[in-house]
Amino acid sequence: MASDPTRRTTLNHHSRRGFLPPDSHPDDGTARRHSKETPMADRTSPAEDKQQPAPEPSRATRTTGRHELPLVALRETVIFPEMIVPLQVGREKSVNALNAAVASGGPIALVTQRRAEQEEIESPDELYQIGTLAKIAQVVQLQDGTVRAIVQGQRRVRVLGFTQTAPYLVATIEELPDQTPAGVEVEALMKSVQAQIEQYVANGAPVPPEAAVAARNITDPGLLADMVAYSPDMTTEQRQELLETIDVVERLKVVSGFLARQVEVLELKGRIQSEVKSEMDKTQREYILREQLKAIQRELGEDDPQQADISELRDKVEAAGMPEEIKARAIKEIDRMSRIPSASPEVGVIRTYVDWLVALPWNVATTDLLDIKEAAKILDEDHYGLEKVKDRILEYLAVRTLADQIRSPILAFVGPPGVGKTSLGKSVARAMGRKFVRMSLGGIHDEAEIRGHRRTYIGALPGRIIQNIKTAGSNNPVFMLDEVDKIGMDFRGDPSSALLEVLDPEQNNTFQDNYLEVPFDLSRVLFIATGNLLDPIPAALRDRMEVIQLPGYTQKEKVEIARRFLIPKQMANHGLKPKNIEITDVALLELVQAYTHEAGVRNIEREIANIMRKVARTVAEGRKRKTIVDIRKLDEYLGPPRFEYGELEREDQVGSATGLVVTEVGGDVVAVEVTIMEGKEDFILTGQLGEVMRESARAALSWIRSHAASLGIERETFEKNTLHIHVPAGATPKDGPSAGVTMATAMVSAFTGIPVRKDVAMTGEITLRGRVLPIGGLKQKTLAAHLSGAKVVIIPKKNEKDLRDIPEEIRRQVRIIPVETAEQVLDAALRRRPQPLAPKPPKAAPDEPVGGGSRLEHGGLVRRPDFPPSDQPPVMVRPEER
Ligand code: ADP
Repeated sequence: MASDPTRRTTLNHHSRRGFLPPDSHPDDGTARRHSKETPMADRTSPAEDKQQPAPEPSRATRTTGRHELPLVALRETVIFPEMIVPLQVGREKSVNALNAAVASGGPIALVTQRRAEQEEIESPDELYQIGTLAKIAQVVQLQDGTVRAIVQGQRRVRVLGFTQTAPYLVATIEELPDQTPAGVEVEALMKSVQAQIEQYVANGAPVPPEAAVAARNITDPGLLADMVAYSPDMTTEQRQELLETIDVVERLKVVSGFLARQVEVLELKGRIQSEVKSEMDKTQREYILREQLKAIQRELGEDDPQQADISELRDKVEAAGMPEEIKARAIKEIDRMSRIPSASPEVGVIRTYVDWLVALPWNVATTDLLDIKEAAKILDEDHYGLEKVKDRILEYLAVRTLADQIRSPILAFVGPPGVGKTSLGKSVARAMGRKFVRMSLGGIHDEAEIRGHRRTYIGALPGRIIQNIKTAGSNNPVFMLDEVDKIGMDFRGDPSSALLEVLDPEQNNTFQDNYLEVPFDLSRVLFIATGNLLDPIPAALRDRMEVIQLPGYTQKEKVEIARRFLIPKQMANHGLKPKNIEITDVALLELVQAYTHEAGVRNIEREIANIMRKVARTVAEGRKRKTIVDIRKLDEYLGPPRFEYGELEREDQVGSATGLVVTEVGGDVVAVEVTIMEGKEDFILTGQLGEVMRESARAALSWIRSHAASLGIERETFEKNTLHIHVPAGATPKDGPSAGVTMATAMVSAFTGIPVRKDVAMTGEITLRGRVLPIGGLKQKTLAAHLSGAKVVIIPKKNEKDLRDIPEEIRRQVRIIPVETAEQVLDAALRRRPQPLAPKPPKAAPDEPVGGGSRLEHGGLVRRPDFPPSDQPPVMVRPEER
C-alpha cells in the first residue's frame, strides 16, 4: 500500500528512520504485554488471509469530505499525519475494525479516547473529536487473538457521529486539510521552530540527533509542527491539543512554546547535573589518586618518611589539647603537607609551623596563689627595704586577686641598674606561683621582633613575645619587658606600637603574631616593664603603666643588702661556709664606699663575688682557718680603693659649684666650672650640654646682669668679657633645667671672686626673675649628694614635700636648705655675701641698674620702686655715651 503521493515529503523518510518515539503507541494494555514475542510478518501472511471472510467491507468511500470509516479507539496515544507507527490492537471491536479496513483495502480512523481506562466505547463524545485517518501498511495476526499493524497517518479528521457500534465502530468523519497561509510570518515561525528543535536536540533531548537535520529539511509548516509530537516529553493531552490545532500558524506557536519550555528544563537539568558531577569528581579523584600514590609507594618499597611524619604530627595535634579552631588550623596544614612532594621546602615550613601551634600553651595556665600575706613574706625574704615598693606591689596583687578580670594597668619598675627590678619581678612570680620570663627591648628597632615575620619569609619565626610564652609553658606567666626606655624606632616599623597591642588590655586577648596567623590570648599574662629612666618611654606606653620608682639605696641600705643577701648568696655560689670566711663591718662599709659608686648593688655583688673567688681558691688549696676580710685584705684582693670618699672639691673654689643630676645609673654630682676671659661673646658652653641647659645658662646670666650692681659686679665686666661655662665629664650628654642655680652660683663666684663652699651641693631651675623652681628625682640627687660627702644640699622649696622619701639616716647627716630665690641660693652657697657697688653720687640715680630691689641690697640705699620690672632682660645703657 503506497502512501499518498501528495503528502510525501522528505520528512517521511527521516521521521520513519529516526524520529520514532521510543514508547510507540499500543492501543491498550493487553496488547502491550505481548508485543515482545510477536514477530512482525508481512501482510500477505496467512494471518491476513484469515481476515478475508471478515464482516462486510466498509462503506467508506475514498473521496475527501465526509465518509464512513471503521474506527479504532486509541488509549494514551495520538497519531499524526505522516506518522508511521506500529499499533497493537487487543480489544475485540478494534481488531474487527482493523480487519474490516484491511478487507476493504480502505483507510481507518484512529481517534484517542478521552478516558484511557474505558473498555467499551459506545458514543462519539467518549472520544476526542479530532483524530487521524490512517493507511494500514501491515497487519499481523498474533496467536492470542491480538493484531499488530503498522499504520501511517494521512490527514486530520473530525468525528461527526457513529453509524455502527458493533461488531466494530463505524464513524462518519469529515477530513480537515491543513490551512496553510503563505507569508513571512509562517516562514519566520518555521525558522524559529527549526532552531528550537536544534537547541532541544543539542541540550540532550531524548530523541535521535538526526531529528534536527530532519526538521531542517521539512518544507511544510504543518508537518514541521506535527513532527514535534514525536518528542517523548510531550503528554497525550499536549499531543491531542496539537492535533486539534488546525490553523498551522497557531500550531507552530504551540510547538514553539513547548520547545522553549523543554529547552529551559534541559538547560537547568544540565547545570544541576554538572555541578553535582564536578563536586563528586573532585573528591573521588583526590581519593583515588592518594590511594594510588600509597600503592605505588608500597610497591617501590618506599614507606614514605613523610607519611610517617604526617601521622606523627597528626597524633601530636590530637594529643595537644588545643582549642578547636587552632586544632582545625593545624589539621588543615597537615593535610596540605600530605599533598605536596616531600622534597619541597614547603614541607619543612609547614612542619615547623604545626610544631609551633602544638607547642604553645593555648590552654595551659598555672593556678594563682592568692594569699597576700604569703606574698608579703616572699617579697621580704628576697629583698631588703623597699617598703613602699613592696606595699604597692602587694596592693596591686590584692586588687588582681579580688577582681581577676579587671583591666589592671601594667606595672613598670623604673630605676637605675642593680636596684632589684628584675629580682622583684621574679619574686612577684614566685609569690603568685606563676612562671617567669623576661625579654629585653633594648635596641629593638624592628616591629617583626615583637610580632614575628609572615610565613612567606624564609626562616620566619614567631615574634619574641610568642617565643617567650612558649618558653614559659603557660599562658599566664609574669612577663618582664626589660629596658622599655631603650626601644627604638626606624624604617622597619615602630616596635612601640606593636608593644602597645601587647600591653593594651583592650586588644591583647587577640594578639596577632604575623607568623602564627591565629590570635593568641595574652590577657592573663602579668606584664612588668622595667627601665632606667621614665622620660624616654614612649608616652602612649607610659600611659598604660603603673610606674613604681626604685631610686637607689643609701650606703646603709647597701651594707644591709650586702650582709643579708649578697654575701650569703655568693658564699653559696662559691661553695663557702661561714667557717671559711667573714667580712668585717668596716671592710664592708669600705667596699661600699670606696670600691663602688652606683645607685644599685650590682657592682657590690660583683666585688663580693671577687672576694669569694679568691677565698675559695685558698680553701681549695688547703687552707683550714677562717679568712677574716678586713680593710687590709680588701686592698689585697681588690686593689686600692677606686673612688675617693666623696667627689666634692677639696678646697673652696672660685667659679665652680656642685650640682646634682639624675642619670641612667642614678643620681650623681657634677661640678659646673666658669671662667672669665676677655672677649666679645656672651658665653661659651662646653661639655655636651643640651638645649634646655643652654637656655638655663642664658637665664642665669641675664638674671645676674640685671642684678649686677647689687651683686657688686661692674657693668663693663659683661661688655668686655666672655664667660666660659664647662660641665665636666663631657662624654655624657647632659640636659635639663635643674642645673640653673648651680650655673648662676658658679657665674656669680667667677664674677665676684667669692669662693663657693666646697661642701654644698644644689639643684633647682632658675627663672629670669631669679625664682627657683622645683625639679625631679630629688631622692636620687640627695642620695648622690650624701654619698659624695656634701654637708649641705640646696633644694627648691616646692620640692620639700618629696623629703618624705629621703631616709631618716640621710636627713640627719645632711642639712637640707629649701630656697625660693636665687639670692637665697647665693646666701647658702657662697663663702660671703657679694658687696653691692657703692652708689655713684650724684648722677648715680639714672645709672642705677634696672630692677634693683634685691634682698642682698642693704646698707642705707635709697630704694626706688622696681621699674621696669626686674625680670625684663637688661637694657644696654652705656653711661659714658649719655
Ligand atoms: P635591676 O634589674 O634593677 O638591674 P637586679 O634585679 O638584677 O637589678 O638586681 C641586681 C642584684 O641585686 C640581684 O642579685 C638582686 O637580688 C640584688 N638586689 C637588688 N636589690 C635588692 C634588695 N633590696 N634586697 C636584696 N637584694 C637585692
